[in-house]
Amino acid sequence: MPRPIIDVEECSGCGICIDVCPNGVLDLANDVAVVANEDECDGCGTCAEECPMGCIEIEED
Ligand code: SF4
Ligand code: SF4
Repeated sequence: MPRPIIDVEECSGCGICIDVCPNGVLDLANDVAVVANEDECDGCGTCAEECPMGCIEIEED
């Protein structure tokens, strides 16, 4: 299953990835993005494309 990997050292907490994810996978915790519903990720890549910090990668396994 695909899943987003967030580099929390680079995350600005802008929330864009949370807004653009169609499946509600991401959330904010302590001002950084976190993976809240990993099982719902379909690997679309939208969060990674829209993140202004470039700190999301989609891992396939
Ligand atoms: S890859 Fe798509 S479904 Fe998965 S977290 Fe990012 S936007 Fe959401
Ligand atoms: S879009 Fe990028 S910088 Fe903004 S909250 Fe998500 S991971 Fe962090």
